[in-house]
Amino acid sequence: MNRIYLDNAATTQAAPEVIEAIQTCFRETYGNPSSLHSFGLEARGVIESARRNIAGFINASSDELFFTGSGTESNNTAIKGIVYSLRGKGDHIVTTAIEHHAIHEPLHFLETQGLKVTYLRNDDNGQVDPDDLKKAITGETILVSVMHGNNEIGTLEPIKELGAICRERGVYFHTDAIQTFGHIPIDVREMNIDLLSASAHKLYGPKGVGLLYIRKGVQMTPLLHGGGQEKRLRASTQDTPGIAGFSRAVELAASEMEKEAGRQSRLRDKLIAALLEAVPESTLNGHPKLRLPNNVNMSFACVEGEAALLNLDMEGIAVATGSACTSTSLEPSHVLTACGMTHELSHGSLRLSLGRTTTEEEIDQVIKVLPPIIAKLRAMSPLYKKQGAK
Ligand SMILES: *Cc1c(COP(=O)(O)O)cnc(C)c1O
Repeated sequence: MNRIYLDNAATTQAAPEVIEAIQTCFRETYGNPSSLHSFGLEARGVIESARRNIAGFINASSDELFFTGSGTESNNTAIKGIVYSLRGKGDHIVTTAIEHHAIHEPLHFLETQGLKVTYLRNDDNGQVDPDDLKKAITGETILVSVMHGNNEIGTLEPIKELGAICRERGVYFHTDAIQTFGHIPIDVREMNIDLLSASAHKLYGPKGVGLLYIRKGVQMTPLLHGGGQEKRLRASTQDTPGIAGFSRAVELAASEMEKEAGRQSRLRDKLIAALLEAVPESTLNGHPKLRLPNNVNMSFACVEGEAALLNLDMEGIAVATGSACTSTSLEPSHVLTACGMTHELSHGSLRLSLGRTTTEEEIDQVIKVLPPIIAKLRAMSPLYKKQGAK
């Protein structure tokens, strides 16, 4: 059976060119980038050329780019690094209710240490209102963190506008751009971004390599202390092959992003329209237009998302319910809850995230297979029978 992978928001398959770049580096450039001999010099060359390449991709300069071990680490570094560094100045952070756990959890931890956090509300499409941010910033605010594209429902946030408000008020602005980096254009200068997180495995690069953009002049306290790597912000011998793979992934993104965003949004819209049409009592989650090119998130009344996921898996189709990170817990998705959805309906949600290798035939196959699965599950649901098909 040809399997269909529609979980690209959880992770992507590394591109063949990326694997090639990683293998070459493992074979040929194995020196420690901190060593003084020629082996070290060559490894340093790989890392610095990657840094220039990736910095250029988001209109940053290369001394503003720091490699990390994951998107989660980049988010933790951004938040804790600013909090430790600006402790004397204030103790308040503003964020949203729909951030990834890699933002919420470090904040919850810091709340136990006395940090105050305001969680901005969003509308039912998942967008925050810039006026709410204006009201939330106080004299104690040291950081605002709002994600660029939501990993569950795909909604895009008005980053440029939010960044402008922060700039005007003299507050640092961080964005978790892990879902958008390499998928839609990002310009850190034009978008008024002070700190930005990205992760290679979400754009056909290797797992375990992230980056943090830190605008020149922003003071940060490191999380990892040790050697002097990454200008002392992140002690650890750099993952030269991983960084080489990240850089190759960015080159591919730069050349294919526009075409792919167009192609995937067309397939996305086809899938959404077909499912809304074929499945009664189905709804689209997230913003109808301002969403990631590859994100489809829908709720099906009176259906367990997990049951639908497992039935699709038996047909060789891989999707997610809620967020991949929460699918092992019974808590409904905090993102869907923040969009005003009932617990019942959010348990009946599926996320289908398209990718570079997704074909029209695959989308047609999902359109054929999914509606009968929903109908079958509903036929077994006492709740659905009681309500009666509307
Ligand atoms: C995947 C993801 C993360 C975590 O990145 P890792 O590299 O897997 O640690 C954080 N935020 C968002 C929005 C994500 O999609």
